[in-house]
Amino acid sequence: MASGLHIVPLREIKGVGPEKVKELNALGLATVGDLLDYYPFRYEDYRLRDLSEVKDGEKITIQGTLYGEPVLAIYGRNKSRLTVKLMADRFLVTAVWFNRHYMKDKLTPGREIVVSGKWEQKRQTIVVGESEFPDAAQGPKARTGTLQPVYSVTGGVTQAFLRKTIKQALLQFGMMIEEVLPRNLIERYDLMPRRQAVAILHQPTGTEEGKAARKRMVYEELFLFQLKVQAYRAVNKSRADGIAHAVDRPKVRDFVRGLPFQLTDSQKKAVAELLGDLEAPFAMNRLLQGDVGAGKTVVAAVALYAVVTAGAQGALMVPTEILAEQHKRSLERLFEPYGLQVGLLTGSLTDRMRRDLLGSLQMGLLDIVVGTHALIQEDVAFRKLGLVVVDEQHRFGVEQRSVLRRKGMNPDVLTMTATPIPRTLAITAFGDLDVTTLKELPKGRKPIQTYAVTHDKLERVLGLIRREVELGRQAYVICPLIEESEKLDVQNAIDVHAQLTYAFPDLKVGLLHGRMTAQEKEDVMGAFKENRVQVLVSTTVIEVGVDVPNSTIMVIYDAVRFGLSQLHQLRGRVGRGEHQSYCVLIADPKNEVAKERMRVMTETNDGFEIARRDLELRGPGDFFGTKQSGLPEFKVADLLNDYEVLELAREDAGALVGEERFWTAADFLPLRSYLNREQVAGRDPLD
Ligand code: ADP
Ligand code: MG
Repeated sequence: MASGLHIVPLREIKGVGPEKVKELNALGLATVGDLLDYYPFRYEDYRLRDLSEVKDGEKITIQGTLYGEPVLAIYGRNKSRLTVKLMADRFLVTAVWFNRHYMKDKLTPGREIVVSGKWEQKRQTIVVGESEFPDAAQGPKARTGTLQPVYSVTGGVTQAFLRKTIKQALLQFGMMIEEVLPRNLIERYDLMPRRQAVAILHQPTGTEEGKAARKRMVYEELFLFQLKVQAYRAVNKSRADGIAHAVDRPKVRDFVRGLPFQLTDSQKKAVAELLGDLEAPFAMNRLLQGDVGAGKTVVAAVALYAVVTAGAQGALMVPTEILAEQHKRSLERLFEPYGLQVGLLTGSLTDRMRRDLLGSLQMGLLDIVVGTHALIQEDVAFRKLGLVVVDEQHRFGVEQRSVLRRKGMNPDVLTMTATPIPRTLAITAFGDLDVTTLKELPKGRKPIQTYAVTHDKLERVLGLIRREVELGRQAYVICPLIEESEKLDVQNAIDVHAQLTYAFPDLKVGLLHGRMTAQEKEDVMGAFKENRVQVLVSTTVIEVGVDVPNSTIMVIYDAVRFGLSQLHQLRGRVGRGEHQSYCVLIADPKNEVAKERMRVMTETNDGFEIARRDLELRGPGDFFGTKQSGLPEFKVADLLNDYEVLELAREDAGALVGEERFWTAADFLPLRSYLNREQVAGRDPLD
């Protein structure tokens, strides 16, 4: 970070000679400023513990009095085992050193000692890693009672040298550490001053203070990063590379008023942002994210309507035919009173229908087209494509989207997703998209109640389905998943369908799977929508987007076979109306991870939380903390856990960059010089 200390050379630190400077350079550290920004990645805890509170296997530090003579056993070559009794508080414990026979002479009975190491509960033994004698250890090297920073070191730089040098640097230059964050942000979040935070990160005193220091640096890091990204975008947005749609605002307002419900505050804000982007001359590239059921579709509908009022066409691309069909119908219903023409383009149109449709599209007879990836085939041409909406964008590759984009004169693009990790995270972090988030669900939604049950409870599950159907509601039953084999999945669906038809002779049980023709799928979905089918047995083809608000129960067979985010998507098919909804996960989890996965699903309805826990359970390193992930690397921040801070930082940085004052007032000079140093105006900071 830019501050005066970034021009002070390392040799100014007492005890750092030319040799050491070279070694520090090898760690990427050139100045005192760099060194002070080199934060530990964890801490070694040397705070004294009470033995009555520690758990087996924990790494602990205890203090005690040596009790009796040490015993040295030598075995093999260079191998030894040194044991001694220790009186710690009221406990008599054993301390063991391996291969450190030279310690023996120091272990005189009665002497006080502090030992750190792994605690073995059963044998009341501590396997000593490090030890210290209070009567000898004084001055800067004493560790007892402290948290010691652990830095990443390589080459000639040792942990001890780095600790000592940073300590010395703080002593000499700590007072010169300058604040970099704007004062209003520091006040808003009650952030610790930079000077104090840096010192505490290197020399933590207690957990509370450490937390506050970390919070500050995480915010700073993410804010400065976002500032760079947003400043770059701001500079580029002045380029008029898109269409400035002349949106007919009064018409759009009437359309919104005519909707069957009031928009939520988030939806209103999203609409306002979108309209602003559509009218602006730069090409919009915006992500609309919101949890399952947050109501993304209607926001897209308003945007599509808006470009039509400006004389352009809109396209909505979705991943499945079922979804295309559904969206086409609901857009038609919304747009019909306003005279808009909506077309449907999927892979299963007849040649004739397809030719007609393409003709109308090209002549501008159609205002809106909904389709699957059939939309991006070469012969699809528009008269004037103004807005492309891509729903459930995580299902599409980047290239597919850019093809659709090229079909217009650089049309505006809106992508929508409910899956917040890891794609969205990357996008959010990189800032190559503007992001709008729907933070709340429409009013009156009741949280879905989720249960995990074993297969032998099937009778009771069927009872629950019957009860809901008798209340006038409908049910989905998702069939067991057999990885990589659509054929077997289909067979499962057929079997379950037969079973349920038998179990519910008086109800209409429908069947839906990927091997059915488009017409068959459409028929059964249509029947389900109109409640002519009460129970719908399906493979995961309904995973994304399907919207039948009267359905209140989602039963998922073999739930452990599904990913958590997928389960959340499936569950999101219910809970879309005002009725209490249920999700039943049928599973016989065999191991702890599987059990934990079921627990996560029953404990939370929050898609982001679920995605986060999913990544945790699958183990980190999948996407984070590795260079290959393509995510920017941060010193203190951890994108997975600090995601909310990233969102704040993004908003704050965006607001600041948007202020005239930021580009003119003197108090922002340090921030602007930081941006200049990183050459923001010149090139993409993310290249
Ligand atoms: P998702 O964000 O998962 O795509 P949808 O757009 O399918 O969600 O919306 C879910 C359901 O909520 C739909 O039935 C939709 O009509 C309804 N809905 C959307 N916005 C509102 C609102 N503001 N008030 C009430 N219901 C809404
Ligand atoms: Mg949707």
